[in-house]
Amino acid sequence: MMATDHILLLAGTREARLLAGDLAKSFPTARITASYAGAVSDLSDPGVPVRVGGFGGAEGLAAYLAAETVSVMIDATHPFAAQISRNAVAAAASTGIPLFRLERQEWAPVDGDNWKTVASLENAAAVLPSDARAFLAIGRKDIACFTQRTDLHAVARMIEPPEAKLPDHWELILSRPPKTVDEEIALFRDRQITHVVTKNSGGKRSSAKIRAARHLGLPVVMVRRPDLPEAATFSAPPDLLLAVRRAMAF
Ligand code: NAP
Repeated sequence: MMATDHILLLAGTREARLLAGDLAKSFPTARITASYAGAVSDLSDPGVPVRVGGFGGAEGLAAYLAAETVSVMIDATHPFAAQISRNAVAAAASTGIPLFRLERQEWAPVDGDNWKTVASLENAAAVLPSDARAFLAIGRKDIACFTQRTDLHAVARMIEPPEAKLPDHWELILSRPPKTVDEEIALFRDRQITHVVTKNSGGKRSSAKIRAARHLGLPVVMVRRPDLPEAATFSAPPDLLLAVRRAMAF
């Protein structure tokens, strides 16, 4: 490892924030940069230097890698942030800079789950019956796929307000997901929810809604993850750190 090693961490998830701390401990002499799209305003401090904003596509990212002499790139973005992950693969290929992806495991149905798996948010919107009282656990950009369904009653929860205007009879909850299943159960009961819609983001943190749906016997419309081009992928941070160490030893 050289004192000048530069690790670019494509961030925007809790896992990326935690990984930034692991990287700083594991590679104390390396320069580490955490990169954010700038999508949310309340960025939590990863404890390493930060840059914010898009790179300008795969070519812009490749130019950044060269200009900032990046030695290793880590993609720890959200599984549904497909564009940046595709750009990372393309930029790694064109520059020869090693790329490692940290990807949390998908949720999988267990006994008692009633899932309808769909390929896209558009499909999720299409399969909801018109008498549904749907809980939409989706992002601010995703909600536009649903707003045409004015026949539905929906409760949408997201962190930042959407640009799209919601139908007047819908409810918007601006918050991060609660930590406990009991809170989700209470919310679903209170709003008389009949269907839960979510992307298969995976991870423990936001799985309370799935477990609450199981407890209440509610159907879940589960949006499958987008397909990504291949990259060296790890779900456990220690395995990824080892791969980074090996790559930096060259
Ligand atoms: P996306 O569709 O894959 O990316 C759109 C564009 O945003 C990219 O082409 C890139 O712009 C820029 N971008 C994305 N992530 C970036 C990063 N970490 N650093 C610098 N630029 C980035 O991404 P998205 O779905 O909008 O997600 C944006 C951010 O929110 C990501 O960091 C992701 O981890 C986080 N997030 C997404 C979701 C989700 O459900 N999609 C959920 C939670 C968190 P240029 O092409 O100009 O480089």
